[in-house]
Amino acid sequence: MNVAVVGAGVGGLAAAYDLARAGHRAVVFEAADQVGGLAAGFKAPGWEWSVEQYYHHWFASDRAILGLIAELGWSDRVLFPWPITAAFHDGRFFALDGPLSSLFGGAAWMDRIPGAGTIERGLYTFRFPALTWPDRVRYGLAGLYLTLTPSWERFEQTTAHEWLQRWMGKHVYQVLWEPLLVSKFGAHYQQVNMAWFWARVKARTPRLGTFQGGFQAFLELLAGQVRSMGVDLRLRTPVDRIDPVPGGGLHVRAGGEQLAFDKCLVTTSPGLLARMAPSMPSDYLRQLLSLRSMGAVNLILALRHQLSEQGFYWHNLMKSAGFPFLALVEHTNFLSPRYFGGDHIVYCGDYLEPEHEYFSLSKDELMQRFLPSLARVNPRFTPDWVCESWLFRAAYAQPIPLLNHSRALPALRTPLPGLWFASMSQVYPWDRGTNYAVEIARRAARSMLDEAAAH
Ligand SMILES: Cc1cc2nc3c(=O)[nH]c(=O)nc-3n(C[C@H](O)[C@H](O)[C@H](O)COP(=O)(O)OP(=O)(O)OC[C@H]3O[C@@H](n4cnc5c(N)ncnc54)[C@H](O)[C@@H]3O)c2cc1C
Repeated sequence: MNVAVVGAGVGGLAAAYDLARAGHRAVVFEAADQVGGLAAGFKAPGWEWSVEQYYHHWFASDRAILGLIAELGWSDRVLFPWPITAAFHDGRFFALDGPLSSLFGGAAWMDRIPGAGTIERGLYTFRFPALTWPDRVRYGLAGLYLTLTPSWERFEQTTAHEWLQRWMGKHVYQVLWEPLLVSKFGAHYQQVNMAWFWARVKARTPRLGTFQGGFQAFLELLAGQVRSMGVDLRLRTPVDRIDPVPGGGLHVRAGGEQLAFDKCLVTTSPGLLARMAPSMPSDYLRQLLSLRSMGAVNLILALRHQLSEQGFYWHNLMKSAGFPFLALVEHTNFLSPRYFGGDHIVYCGDYLEPEHEYFSLSKDELMQRFLPSLARVNPRFTPDWVCESWLFRAAYAQPIPLLNHSRALPALRTPLPGLWFASMSQVYPWDRGTNYAVEIARRAARSMLDEAAAH
């Protein structure tokens, strides 16, 4: 079988790996000049490790990607530090989550006891001053209920906005969850279904993982692996058209050249697939075009000094409190600045509709808007702390799961014979992530292999 894979993100690479391993020929077409897609990173001069263009980490429960890494024999390069998440309340940041040991004078052995993460979350929540005692009880009981509920199906019939207010209470919702939903989904935050929230509770672990050298180091290794297995990986080669061939197979037009394949897997956004494959049957096309998503804007700063001196990694910000973006992530409070030539790396991130002005403002204009709020994290911050900055924007970054979303999901095997589609929008109820990109792309490759074997 001769297969085209569109996109050398982690999904496309994982699928190419499986196809090559099964003895098939695969060509991966990638529009960008490097592999990695949304998980890609970059390295400034003097850095030993790369930094992801958008903050990235793994959860200990990310079985598909950690399994692939184990299969390839690279598990010894995966690290799982335990960083601190903080929330803004009453003009200050408070730790919401962090190593259990940090509550007990740094006794590191405590972090290894079974269930340390659950105990830690409970204790941190009980200390968070924005919650009253009745809030804490409701938070704890509703959280336990979600953790113990094994399936998500009925949660998709209600919105997270309704469910959380009803069962955790309006105050817990306003303090903890409304800012999170607003930060991810903007104006759509009241429409997101509760299955998405359930999946988040199920999948998240307090320890967060990365790869030695950064995500890009892993992605380059994976690309090297598939190349060594005979996969033809073509960078700077965008696909702009996919057409069925009478009698079977597909024509894929890439970089101005038309090539024939038996099958094709597309891993880009649904909108892009709709444009690439104009002969797609109309029901499927409608499904593709009905999927909603948010874009992402990310300003990365290299600072001379540590910003959060309390060592907070993730700061949940609130636009209602005057912050111009929604997540401030100090990467070097997760990984040591020594990997980055002593620079302190801070992400200022936001999820927005692609029409938002942040998609057209220049980097300097965004800096002018964003930098003043860094002084709310550390009053000693001044703009001359910034030694370098980078701006990344992606129009397709966060799918929005609406009510009964499972009924709106396009199948992996499209109705166009030979064409498969595996994207972030289909990993539901799970939130998008490299783990699920690997899982869904490998599932698509398996389905292609099964179909080939059946003929
Ligand atoms: C802000 C942000 C934070 C995130 N945080 C995390 C996190 O902490 N942990 C985590 O695991 N995941 C995280 N993710 C999600 C993760 O990045 C994605 O789920 C994953 O990378 C998707 O992989 P993919 O291969 O499906 O798609 P993509 O990475 O989008 O890959 C698709 C590829 O297709 C290429 N392409 C596009 N058009 C064409 C064309 N016409 N022809 C050829 N190639 C084309 C693109 O350049 C890209 O390389 C985050 C994402 C964002 C945006």
